[in-house]
Amino acid sequence: MQAEWLEALPQLRQLVGERNFATWIEPIRCADDANGFVLEVSSRFFQEWVTRHFLPIIRQVLTRRDGTTPGIRLVVAADHAAHTAHGRKPGTVPARPAAPRGPRIGRLVADYTFDTFVVGQANEVAYRAARSVAETPGRRFNPLFVWGGVGLGKTHLINAVAHELLTQRPRRRLACLAAEAFMNSLIGALRQDQMAAFRDGFRAVDVLILDDVQFLAGKERTQEEFFHTFNALHSAGHQIVLTSDKPPHAIAELEQRLRSRFEGGLIVDIHPPTPEMRIAIVTQKAAMHGVPLPRDVAALVAQRSGPSVRELEGALTRVLATAALRGVPLEAALVERLLAPIAPLSSLLSVEAIQEKVSQHFQVSVSDLKSHRRDRAVTFARQVAMYLSRTIAEVSFPCIAEKFGGRDHSTVMHAVRAVEDKRKQDPHTGNLLLTLETELRSH
Ligand code: ADP
Ligand code: MG
Repeated sequence: MQAEWLEALPQLRQLVGERNFATWIEPIRCADDANGFVLEVSSRFFQEWVTRHFLPIIRQVLTRRDGTTPGIRLVVAADHAAHTAHGRKPGTVPARPAAPRGPRIGRLVADYTFDTFVVGQANEVAYRAARSVAETPGRRFNPLFVWGGVGLGKTHLINAVAHELLTQRPRRRLACLAAEAFMNSLIGALRQDQMAAFRDGFRAVDVLILDDVQFLAGKERTQEEFFHTFNALHSAGHQIVLTSDKPPHAIAELEQRLRSRFEGGLIVDIHPPTPEMRIAIVTQKAAMHGVPLPRDVAALVAQRSGPSVRELEGALTRVLATAALRGVPLEAALVERLLAPIAPLSSLLSVEAIQEKVSQHFQVSVSDLKSHRRDRAVTFARQVAMYLSRTIAEVSFPCIAEKFGGRDHSTVMHAVRAVEDKRKQDPHTGNLLLTLETELRSH
């Protein structure tokens, strides 16, 4: 194991770049274990950082020629410091690329700054609004509500706001956390009879940033508490930033009074990145790993990965790791071999699979989709299922009509046109369809 680890080091150095290597990889000590690699680090912070940023790459590099990956455990060893090249004392942490200044509540991702956020047509409005809030919190857009599909950069953007606010005033009291964490913290406070401390804590912040507020749907107690927190902060002129995967009006089971609070500020949405932005994002992410990416390689990675930025990053990681592992140059030919052209969905998807997905999403049974029921919820779900059958499974109108309870094919044509129109006019429908398409693609 130790020999394998030592052999892997030069590849890792090449892959993560000199500075990351010296800070994060070199200090790791490899111990023996029958079950695989035990990688020892000096602190919890170090462990989390390496897990988050480098574990996928370490795993790739340690993958054996026969394709098997040995077990890899990253553990904190109390006596670690004595053995590391740097000789750090236990408990101390290495210098972090973007120095943390400690928000009072929640943690920030160091890499998610404005500098590393690629701006383009798809997110420009959201970016400008976020910048403005970071420059003059509590003044112009309060609350700022950012919504958009999964993996489009909402969490990145709000972290950037938080970093910027702390750069200007390191002592600013800031809460930046997921709505789910807010709820868990509330539950903890209720159990331990510490509600006063909970309230004081949240109401004392200068800025509250809550990620993924769609999570509050149906959580009545949490909504109630959040409503009061919101009011206390808002009336004191403190900035509130919220994100969600849908606009406020589309969050089901959200109390009206909260919805109207969310709608009382500025609402901006983020769209999927354009092809140009995708190339810029890949280039930027590679640069963060210390790897310059030729333009044609970046373009090919951008073209051959799924629609969200997360999928884009996954594809890039694979390419970078393989290049380093095999010691081959980063060329378009390598990407060609690694990432197959995205198969046309039509060859993979059946009308039945689409009906199943739509049924789950809208909570409408498949037999209702095929039935002649005409209530609004069922009709819309049926139209969406027909639309997807036509646009992404590319099934003919008569055939779709047949699979939806033997209707007339003109009904299907009408449904497809209706959804198309709605998609153009209503960003929420656009987002909904994109989500369904992405999920169908990943299945
Ligand atoms: P969301 O919160 O909207 O689901 P995230 O903020 O978690 O999405 O973004 C997913 C990944 O994509 C992150 O690694 C993020 O850095 C990256 N990303 C998304 N948009 C951009 C962008 N415009 N520029 C750079 N990276 C981006
Ligand atoms: Mg997020």
